[in-house]
Amino acid sequence: MESLHKRILEEGKALSENVLKVDSFLNHQVDPDLMYEMGTYFKKYFEAHKITKIFTIESSGIAPSVMTAMQMNLPMVILKKQSSKILKGDVYQTTVHSFTKDMNYELTLQKKYINEDDNILIIDDFLANGEAALGAARLVEGAGAKVGGIGIVIEKSFQPGPQLLKEKGYDVYSLARIAKLGKGNIEFVK
Ligand code: 5GP
Repeated sequence: MESLHKRILEEGKALSENVLKVDSFLNHQVDPDLMYEMGTYFKKYFEAHKITKIFTIESSGIAPSVMTAMQMNLPMVILKKQSSKILKGDVYQTTVHSFTKDMNYELTLQKKYINEDDNILIIDDFLANGEAALGAARLVEGAGAKVGGIGIVIEKSFQPGPQLLKEKGYDVYSLARIAKLGKGNIEFVK
């Protein structure tokens, strides 16, 4: 997605060789026009996948997901990050490790928002080690539903997540794929 590449190059800051900060249009301030265009790309790619719902992980996946859901005319569900297990039987939960924050959280979904006939498109802002996306997929499959695809805004292709998801057979579509990060240097996959 050309406009996303441009924004990453103009405004993105590599905090290290592993972490990219894009606070000015995705993670803190949000550019609605850019989010809408992301929705157009996700719709085009996943349109034939017979998706029934879009799931995202709070909070930075919400903006691109809602724009995609609107254009695909589908419901959207936010998977919550809880700090502890909920002991009532009306939720699905799975533990996810965040390498960026070095902490665990319980990814949580109310049972009433999924059923066995669902074919879910998971959308998230970044793909790094794949923990968040795999956690979301575990919730979906644990509920007896299918993962119809995974849409990522920025994939760091040099980290393990993309390969891991592909090995598990998921159809992953990323709007920007970064090959290398370094101080003052951002390279895309050619
Ligand atoms: P993973 O679970 O694939 O290791 O990481 C995905 C999650 O970590 C994303 O939902 C995102 O919130 C966060 N994340 C991973 N890498 C980056 C990064 O380089 N920049 C930002 N802003 N967030 C990241």
